[in-house]
Amino acid sequence: MLSFHRETFIVFEESRVQILAILNEKKAEYILNESSSYRPIKIMIKQLSEDTDPQDIVEDLSSRGYVVNRISQMRNYKLKMLLPMFLLEIKKTGNCKNIYNERNICYFRTKIETYRRKTKAMICYNCSGFYHAARNCHLKPKCIKCGGEHATRDCKIKGKLPVPKMRKLR
Ligand SMILES: [Zn+2]
Ligand SMILES: [Zn+2]
Repeated sequence: MLSFHRETFIVFEESRVQILAILNEKKAEYILNESSSYRPIKIMIKQLSEDTDPQDIVEDLSSRGYVVNRISQMRNYKLKMLLPMFLLEIKKTGNCKNIYNERNICYFRTKIETYRRKTKAMICYNCSGFYHAARNCHLKPKCIKCGGEHATRDCKIKGKLPVPKMRKLR
């Protein structure tokens, strides 16, 4: 989906690449909306062994028809140890929803859960707008720190901004 001059276009996957090329060529300003049909399913596989090779997990799931986009093992940074939990991105294809019913992966009795990132208000580091990521943003940059016409990461002001004080509501 494309939001363009406040109009929203639904773009089919086949024409998506061409349309994006045209928009980029014209240097149009737009925000790309990653519709949920493109977004992979994020799951957490629990109760594997911490020694499980991620490649074995990928192969096991591929043999059942799943397409694994990404896999990473969870770790505890403080204790510097790997955990028996793996975070996966599964491509949305025909049978992908069955993944939640898989109980046996790499010979372990596993548990699969939806992975939920703790939700935070998302701020775009390109245009300072809300609810989209900078990677999808093709609007004119606007700096969060100084309001200038550049992305926040390119700002001359280094370091964090002071946390805004909470105002009392009456
Ligand atoms: Zn933006
Ligand atoms: Zn700036």
